[in-house]
Amino acid sequence: MFRLFSLMLAMFAFMSCNQAQPGYEARAVSGPVLSLEGDTLEHVEKTKSEWKAELSPLAFKVLREKGTERAFTGEYWDNKKKGIYYCAGCGAPLFSSTTKYRSGTGWPSFYEPIITGNVKEENDTSYGMNRVEVVCARCDGHLGHVFPDGPEPTGLRYCLNSVSLKFEEKK
Ligand SMILES: [Zn+2]
Repeated sequence: MFRLFSLMLAMFAFMSCNQAQPGYEARAVSGPVLSLEGDTLEHVEKTKSEWKAELSPLAFKVLREKGTERAFTGEYWDNKKKGIYYCAGCGAPLFSSTTKYRSGTGWPSFYEPIITGNVKEENDTSYGMNRVEVVCARCDGHLGHVFPDGPEPTGLRYCLNSVSLKFEEKK
């Protein structure tokens, strides 16, 4: 019984957002940030105190200070509704429910951004790990990390914080 529990714990740790995955480097993503209608969205630049005034304390910590919400505590990890996930900082469209899948990590997981240029990748060596951070290309808000263990067709797992996103249901 204990062995099984340890095994499950180990598997869970392997799947978690904090696990380093060798063999994946940040890709240079180019192209303008676009709305769903195809209009170019201007870059959003705000001071730390401006962000602090408009975001919740947790959203500020995650989006602006690269924090991580605790697994299974966010609003969207188990959200199965159809719709669009926008950046909670600037409103840029980032991911669609059509590419969301069940990763078992306790964080909302997707295999592909809705518009390539709207999500940037950056190498992140914090905490002694080699990870690839994903940020909103419009406001540079921290969204989460991307790992090469996702499902087809991309093989990628965008492991995101719910608090960085704002979901809008589309029926
Ligand atoms: Zn943003």
